[in-house]
Amino acid sequence: MESEARIQGILRTLERHYPHASLALNFRNPFELLIAVILSAQCTDERVNQVTRTLFERCPTPQALAAEPLESLEQMVRSTGYYRNKAKAVRACAQEVVEKHGGEVPRTMEALVRLPGVGRKTAAMVLGNAYGIQEGVAVDTHVLRVSQRLGIVDEKTPEAVERRLMEMVPRAQWTWFSNAMIQHGRMICTARKPLCSRCPLADDCDYAQQTGRGT
Ligand code: SF4
Repeated sequence: MESEARIQGILRTLERHYPHASLALNFRNPFELLIAVILSAQCTDERVNQVTRTLFERCPTPQALAAEPLESLEQMVRSTGYYRNKAKAVRACAQEVVEKHGGEVPRTMEALVRLPGVGRKTAAMVLGNAYGIQEGVAVDTHVLRVSQRLGIVDEKTPEAVERRLMEMVPRAQWTWFSNAMIQHGRMICTARKPLCSRCPLADDCDYAQQTGRGT
């Protein structure tokens, strides 16, 4: 069991450095965030923001996106990679939002993860960032990597890591915590070359202690 004091220390440091952590994806409503997160798989947020600017001009509602021809969607999302699957997923997702939820993105984890292309990470991001509902900790590649390097989780899969983080982090902070860890993973604890000597979490980090990189 991770020591409570250590977790508290990590949370305090994150609060100091990322007090208002938020997603880098642009969105004006829950539906736009839902689609942006689906498109962000294996793609940078900057690229997704470029693509969604055009996409939501042409398809501003779930109804419009659901009715858009697949070939047209493929062209619009092409630069985000895996564009055939993504075009299918966002269209199918929009269709279900229209047909099963009256055009409103659902507000529960249970309903969200039943939508095509939506897993727990996407659902937690949408609930937390668009609705302010804390139903999970979104574990993306950054949250997974930083948590494992810090040594606050032994678990390997995003699902298991999420369960562990939900036990350790107060519920009111789940969304902020995930956003802060994503920001930290992007800016400091990068995948290829973590900048441990500049990292405010180094004193609490297993990786830095084991490699001596935090000094
Ligand atoms: S000390 Fe290094 S490995 Fe640990 S969180 Fe910071 S950047 Fe990542």
